[in-house]
Amino acid sequence: MVTKKNKSIAIIGAGIAGLTAGALLCKKGYDVSIFEKQSTLGGRALALNGSNLTIDEYKKALASNNCFVPFSTPDLQTIFEKKLFDNYYLDLGYHAIGGGVLSNLNDVLSEFNESIEFLESYVGLIHSNHYDFPFLSKIDKLKILPNILRLLFASEHTLQKLDSISITETINRYGKGKMKHILEVFSRTITTVNNLDRISTGEMFRAQRNLYRGSKPVGYPIGGLGSIHEKLAEIIESHGGSIHLDANVEKILIENGRVKGIEHNGKKQFFETVVYSGLLQHLFRIADESKFPEPYVEMMKSLTGTGSLCAYYSLNDVPDDIIGKTFHFIERDCGVDGNDAVGMIDFMSASSDSKIAPNGKFLVQSYLICTPSEAKDKKTLEKLKNILDLNLSYLISDYKKSLNWAIYPSVWHLDGVAKTIDNKKPQIQTPIENFYVIGDGVKAMGIGFNCSLNSSRKLVDEYL
Ligand SMILES: Cc1cc2nc3c(=O)[nH]c(=O)nc-3n(C[C@H](O)[C@H](O)[C@H](O)COP(=O)(O)OP(=O)(O)OC[C@H]3O[C@@H](n4cnc5c(N)ncnc54)[C@H](O)[C@@H]3O)c2cc1C
Repeated sequence: MVTKKNKSIAIIGAGIAGLTAGALLCKKGYDVSIFEKQSTLGGRALALNGSNLTIDEYKKALASNNCFVPFSTPDLQTIFEKKLFDNYYLDLGYHAIGGGVLSNLNDVLSEFNESIEFLESYVGLIHSNHYDFPFLSKIDKLKILPNILRLLFASEHTLQKLDSISITETINRYGKGKMKHILEVFSRTITTVNNLDRISTGEMFRAQRNLYRGSKPVGYPIGGLGSIHEKLAEIIESHGGSIHLDANVEKILIENGRVKGIEHNGKKQFFETVVYSGLLQHLFRIADESKFPEPYVEMMKSLTGTGSLCAYYSLNDVPDDIIGKTFHFIERDCGVDGNDAVGMIDFMSASSDSKIAPNGKFLVQSYLICTPSEAKDKKTLEKLKNILDLNLSYLISDYKKSLNWAIYPSVWHLDGVAKTIDNKKPQIQTPIENFYVIGDGVKAMGIGFNCSLNSSRKLVDEYL
């Protein structure tokens, strides 16, 4: 156990990365203070209580997280006037958590004798006139097993060699039949990137390998994402840590190559260690770049994220055979970066066990991958919206008859940093002494939520 007085830590950001790091560091005996500029916990994995939400709060939450709603049925004004979101718990957009992290999150929580209950699903594939569920039959698995196993259980040394090999090249080498389909669909959903030339084979198999740890491939927390943040916040506060909301950090104080603390509300506060979990591309808005080596600054500024068009459909009816299941789909030749686009439609959220929709209503969440610039382009978004609607209609042909409302949030910072060949992911340790970065943009296992959580675990296990 460290001596508290010597180990004061400021964590910037109360998303999943900041909260996980906060809980683990409190347990190690550090004196943890978390500063969050929003009035809510959760960052991009934000949970919104539709009953209390105003249209202005909703738009503000979207804008603060690089999202907007280009389409909705009816229009947003009417949705709020008619209180159509009452008794729904919404996220900013589609969220399902990659399987491996369910055990990772519960690994963290189990250290505090806590856990979160998840709904879990295998993943099916949508066709225009039927669906396969799960996507891979037992016979398929036996046929492709040798190749999959070779890649999944390759040594870290081999994976490092595969880091610079694109999935396009891997498909050319191994991709026949279903194996081709797995490589082109799974690699896209795992990375939220459609362009197979940009996806790294090494990264894809590291993430894929993590999915085989202990749970089904995707999960959704009962009660919504908010249940995760609330639990972590309770742990932090009951272990002596503090979380300050509406607390924008204006400056990271650095002197002689060492972090000294932060500035908040114009006041300097001194800490032994500072951890930043905001978007890496925004770090130099609050840290003086002249204190960092030039190549590091250039690398951080050059990082690009990923985008998506999401959709939430509230329906009065969903066929029993698809409730609780999650599906992939692939749309060919649709002219986006990578030409084919992959998306998912999830009915775990439509299960009454998810507890995120009022009785008798079914919330269906879906998303379609695009680039950050496509996520801002109305013409592309219209095309993507039609693809989302079309694939839902393949599963529920008359869904429009039972539609209460639909919203289509577009996001251009889904993943902080795309795990692609051309993006160099920074390490957790920075060139500044006692200053660390965590979140979904750093070099840690997995993508999105997974990467954020794993980066915090890595920070605590390897650096502090
Ligand atoms: C619409 C959408 C859908 C997604 N779907 C999925 C999915 O299905 N599966 C998945 O794994 N991932 C998904 N993601 C990604 C996932 O939500 C993120 O990877 C994860 O939530 C990032 O957590 P984080 O803690 O690293 O960063 P963030 O959640 O971004 O948290 C950083 C926090 O730092 C705060 N902050 C920044 N600067 C300052 C400052 N100067 N002072 C104080 N506070 C500051 C921010 O306000 C923020 O709350 C999705 C993201 C979005 C937006």
